[in-house]
Amino acid sequence: MADPLQSLRAVKGMNDILPPESARWEWFEDKVRGLMQRYGYANVRTPLVEPTALFLRGLGEATDIVEKEMYSFEDALNGDRLTLRPENTAGVVRAATEHALLHDGGRRLFYIGAMFRHERPQKGRYRQFHQVGAEALGHAGPDVDAELILMCRALWRELGLREGEDVRLELNSLGEPAERLAHREALVTHLEASSGVLDDDARRRLYSNPLRILDSKNPALQPLIEAAPRLIDFLGAASRGHLEAVCAVLDAVGLPYRLNPRLVRGMDYYNLTVFEWVTDRLGAQGTVCGGGRYDRLFEQLGGKPTPAVGWGMGIERLLLLMEAAGVQPPLPVPDAFAIVQAAGHLPTVMVTLEALRAQGVSVTFNPAGASGPASMKSQFKRADASGARHALIFGEEELASASVGLKNLRDIGAVQQRLPLADVAQWAAALRNA
Ligand code: ATP
Ligand code: MG
Repeated sequence: MADPLQSLRAVKGMNDILPPESARWEWFEDKVRGLMQRYGYANVRTPLVEPTALFLRGLGEATDIVEKEMYSFEDALNGDRLTLRPENTAGVVRAATEHALLHDGGRRLFYIGAMFRHERPQKGRYRQFHQVGAEALGHAGPDVDAELILMCRALWRELGLREGEDVRLELNSLGEPAERLAHREALVTHLEASSGVLDDDARRRLYSNPLRILDSKNPALQPLIEAAPRLIDFLGAASRGHLEAVCAVLDAVGLPYRLNPRLVRGMDYYNLTVFEWVTDRLGAQGTVCGGGRYDRLFEQLGGKPTPAVGWGMGIERLLLLMEAAGVQPPLPVPDAFAIVQAAGHLPTVMVTLEALRAQGVSVTFNPAGASGPASMKSQFKRADASGARHALIFGEEELASASVGLKNLRDIGAVQQRLPLADVAQWAAALRNA
């Protein structure tokens, strides 16, 4: 008979994030929260599950996500059509409308969380993955577009990623609907003229969503795509002005970018500014962050017309990129590790450790077995392996004089000290990050 436990594995393409890797995630998320705080973006948390209609209406029926990547199901209890969120912008817009978040002006929001897409799992591409996203809602001007891009640069710098070498900015404008329509006609004419070259996806999209064909990764289509009419040549004065204003800020702060007329993005909701931060270090999973303006999404989802702009960033890809770029965040280590000689000392040990933690010292110990603490020797081994800088020795001898031994584990030459237990508040500070 098959082992029934054998089938209890994580779902394909969905990962457990375990220590020590999880510490890198926390480090990254802390950096993100600090960044958002500095730029005035407030945290928003929307449900992982949304009505399927939100994504059908929000993302566009002829997008990769809606066509083949959504985890959609029927609620077995009431028949509702539901979907695990493949992205969070639609959810944020729904929430902003539902709770009239913009009744007294714009809002800057950010999220961190899991997204779900039924894709072929590979390095940097998973079925459950995680995104950080920032959204500036209710502002039409190019200043917030530029701000959002600058936030990314600030984050790269903090993470130790090098612009130009590890990540590069690509920028484009998708214009407004009338401009897109004129371009679309020219594009369809161009593609029709070579319809024999088109693959199945492209043929299917020729009339439903020809712009998306420009985003195709099929090498056979590249020459046709290269020669296609460029949307940027169909932009009117206002759209051009918006793009130029964004570029002027990027120029002023010395942020290099490449204007890429073929950059279209995967969702239909974008207009005007679109951008991607790309890397050469992750093969086909080269986009670490993508974003742009979506001035019509609120209306499309039944809300009041509201301009908006934002970006989404893949956390897995970013951590992979950091690894590939040779930048690794420091792993957290305890300040101290307690060595306990006898079970009878436990109350004194715990009182002291609590006092230390109350002072911000991180301190741990090797939990005892049923017959008491392990040998001092084995506890010292654990202390060493933990990376702790100090051992706190609660031995018979030390405790007899109401004190604890302090041994610097990273400096063998250092002399062992005795610290009075009664004065723990005084010497705690010296252990903290010492
Ligand atoms: P791609 O072209 O690589 O499929 P996308 O255009 O579908 O990306 P977006 O929907 O713009 O991606 O999502 C923003 C970011 O989220 C991407 O730039 C990427 O870093 C990350 N991302 C998207 N899909 C996945 C996935 N399946 N696994 C891991 N990260 C992902
Ligand atoms: Mg995709």
